[in-house]
Amino acid sequence: MNESTDLAGDDDPSTRLSTSWRECLAATPPAATALVADLVRHAGAFADRFYAVLLEDPRAAHFLSRDQVRTRLHASLQRWLGDLLRAGPATIDALIAANRQVGVVHARIGMPVDLVSRGTRLLRDGMVARIAEAGAAPETAFAAIRAVNASIDLALESMTLAYADAHDRSARTDAAYRLFSLAQNVGTERERQRALLLDWENALLYALAGARGALRPRRLSESEFGLWFLHKGIPIVGDNSETRHILALIAQIDAMLAPAGASEARLEPAAFEAIRARLASIRDLLGQLFGRVGALEAGSDALTNLLNRRFLPTVLRHEIELAASHGHAFSVVLLDIDHFKQINDRHGHGAGDRALQHVAALLTQSVRSSDYVFRLGGEEFLVTLVAADGHRARDIAETLRRRIADSPVELDGGHRLSLTASLGVAAHDGHPDYERLLGRADKAMYAAKRNGRNRVELAAADAPAT
Ligand code: GH3
Ligand code: MG
Ligand code: MG
Repeated sequence: MNESTDLAGDDDPSTRLSTSWRECLAATPPAATALVADLVRHAGAFADRFYAVLLEDPRAAHFLSRDQVRTRLHASLQRWLGDLLRAGPATIDALIAANRQVGVVHARIGMPVDLVSRGTRLLRDGMVARIAEAGAAPETAFAAIRAVNASIDLALESMTLAYADAHDRSARTDAAYRLFSLAQNVGTERERQRALLLDWENALLYALAGARGALRPRRLSESEFGLWFLHKGIPIVGDNSETRHILALIAQIDAMLAPAGASEARLEPAAFEAIRARLASIRDLLGQLFGRVGALEAGSDALTNLLNRRFLPTVLRHEIELAASHGHAFSVVLLDIDHFKQINDRHGHGAGDRALQHVAALLTQSVRSSDYVFRLGGEEFLVTLVAADGHRARDIAETLRRRIADSPVELDGGHRLSLTASLGVAAHDGHPDYERLLGRADKAMYAAKRNGRNRVELAAADAPAT
């Protein structure tokens, strides 16, 4: 599951960084080196200040939750500082590699570069202040400050190197994904979402008419249409004035429907008309958005028509951002067909292909239109579940498991082939890096295999700081 990042090249910039770092260490007198290493004592205080300031930035909320800071990030920052301040000739290459990896993760989670610079500026200020207080001879203090600055700059340069590459790559995939989604979905999605919106309007009308047994309608933002729009509609057409207008209309409708705390609220006819007018505007805007869409090259998996893994990073990044900004729960299910090799061996590759199409169809039919189904490769599938916490996701996975076990594949000659699958469920736990989420789902899926196959396992919460 690990994204391979080819960091070493013929003309590896790490070599240049490594030479500069060595020169800088060699030029620092031993008293200054000791003064720098002694700063490690204050690593906890530096980390406190670093996160206190960053957490005040609303954008940081996408990347840092207080929980994550407490359980993991505070300790990793202290370790990062310790490694940096105690760097010696023997550890430099490992330090550069580790900082390049930090850059890759920052790019993957879409960390704004200015947040990183602000954070390192705070650390630098803190360290310089401590050196000044230490009462060393001025030339020692000066050399220590120069060494701290050089180390931080070199660490940042290592991070930036990897960040730039990884960031360009993901920006290109994001753009390709948008085009792909347009081509994939436009015909069917347009009609389907129109129908879902009408269903919601009818349910509202029915409920307002006071029909016996009618349920109080769900908020539009939580209806299948509302979820689809947020999770798929916006990524498909991009964030623009029409999509923002639709979001505003949805919010207005929900506000009219649910006057705070009034469970008995009955809408006045005038209010109902106002809601219907907004629903009509939403339909018009959607029509315009879909109307701009042209026929574009598709990139789905040819056998199953599902998304292939190329767009997995884009989709997961987007879902994790939404989970952070809207406080939605979000989970993934990783599914691997059991003993698939035997199916190929006993019934032929054609039967294997038929089985893959069968499972793909079952998965697609079983999830909501806001969810994504991927074929990751071979006989491995991934389903994203929006608005589902771990327990709900496990129930859904259990339903998927049962459906697969209960629906044999029809082969030529009337032969029926039974299939089972092992499923691993992982709920997003606030960590901004989707690779962690996939890693946990992967582990849970392998636990399901180990525990006898044809079963579902829910991933444990992420392990603390690594
Ligand atoms: P397990 O229960 O541990 O998952 O065992 P398994 O046999 O399912 O797993 P394994 O990974 O050993 O075998 C996967 C097989 O899937 C091997 C490969 O030939 C087959 N396969 C991969 N892609 C395709 C495909 O597109 N079509 C067909 N028919 N078979 C495929
Ligand atoms: Mg398998
Ligand atoms: Mg497999």
